[in-house]
Amino acid sequence: MEKIDLAVVGGGPAGAIVAREAAAGGAKVVLFERSPHAPLRCAGLISTRAADELGVSRDLVLAEIHGAVIHGPGGSDAALLSSRPKAVVIDRKRLDARLRARARDAGARVMEGVSVLGWDGTALHTTAGKFRPGILVGADGAMSAVARWTGLPGPREVLVAYQAEVAVRSGRPDRVEIFLGRDHAPGFFAWAIPAGDTVRAGLATTETKGAADLLRRFLARRFPNAPIRGVSGGLIPIGPPARVSAGGTFLVGDAAAQVKPLTGGGLYYGGTAARLLGRLIADGEPAEYEARWREKLGREIEFGLRARRAFLALSDGELNRLVAVLGDRALSAFLAERGDMDYPSRLVRELKRAPQLWSLGLKALAAVGGLSRLGELLSA
Ligand SMILES: Cc1cc2nc3c(=O)[nH]c(=O)nc-3n(C[C@H](O)[C@H](O)[C@H](O)COP(=O)(O)OP(=O)(O)OC[C@H]3O[C@@H](n4cnc5c(N)ncnc54)[C@H](O)[C@@H]3O)c2cc1C
Repeated sequence: MEKIDLAVVGGGPAGAIVAREAAAGGAKVVLFERSPHAPLRCAGLISTRAADELGVSRDLVLAEIHGAVIHGPGGSDAALLSSRPKAVVIDRKRLDARLRARARDAGARVMEGVSVLGWDGTALHTTAGKFRPGILVGADGAMSAVARWTGLPGPREVLVAYQAEVAVRSGRPDRVEIFLGRDHAPGFFAWAIPAGDTVRAGLATTETKGAADLLRRFLARRFPNAPIRGVSGGLIPIGPPARVSAGGTFLVGDAAAQVKPLTGGGLYYGGTAARLLGRLIADGEPAEYEARWREKLGREIEFGLRARRAFLALSDGELNRLVAVLGDRALSAFLAERGDMDYPSRLVRELKRAPQLWSLGLKALAAVGGLSRLGELLSA
């Protein structure tokens, strides 16, 4: 049985980043990725900040995004469009391959096409034999087997997501579209995201059974007769469990539900936590990970969870009225310029400093039923 410092299960972005950072610090690292050519399960939308931090090069960028058009369930619209690019849509498959190549360049052994089958507390059983790691990292996605094998709890909520690659070029390649309402996607939203030659049209929902039908209906309405290049399904974990580590085992990325509760985006939070974990392992301080990742991201995730609870408690009528208020020219311009898709709580601070928008804030409040209802929503 081969002895190694670190075994990383899963070669998605989170696993590849942990492996790279730890190997760069001198650790003997093996990363296992069972299906390096699996279909895309991601819209690939990340902020420009995330693109910088993940080291996304220009050739991986399929579209530059200035903002979003939000469609309310009853026909209201809000266009939140900034003067500068706020996000990019990336080629996710190539990003993953590139991050694994960087891990390899840093000295990690990257074993593609190898599945990890089990963990007995000492040995990791894989389709390429047994390994004895000092540290085990579970970067194996939303249904983490590492979490199961080590008795770590799962996320608070799991959404089902389906996405189609629609073979049309968007007429508005600088904006994503968001569709709200129970008819589109109960418990979340549907999206249409320009990606160069195609549009990624998908949705996530709390309805675990009917998600594929919801996507079919969405495609028929939004892209009738357009050729579909492929459909993929995935899971989005929401709300990290109370613990994501136990002894020498650490979860990261989707395995730890390091995901934005409001949008389901996991690349930035997972990448941030992965860099931290990899460096702490390299420095011999992995026990610091649990406290340190929560210091970085915990507050923002808690804010997102509260906002999500409020969102879930809104009726379609209330959502529609809220979108109509957001559509106000001054407010939408402010949201588009100052909003931060990675740190949405910062917007609240910005709004407090913008008295010219307070009357619109009151309108938004009225749209969701007034102050006492807002209190109810936030404490729901
Ligand atoms: C439809 C959809 C759209 C999304 N859109 C966006 C978006 O636009 N922006 C964004 O930021 N996020 C988005 N996300 C979320 C994002 O895709 C995830 O947060 C991200 O992939 C998490 O990265 P990860 O490395 O933690 O896990 P994953 O990318 O899930 O990687 C886990 C890897 O582990 C491997 N693995 C699992 N078990 C084993 C095993 N036993 N042995 C070996 N290998 C194993 C898997 O093959 C997989 O490659 C979306 C998710 C879905 C489902």
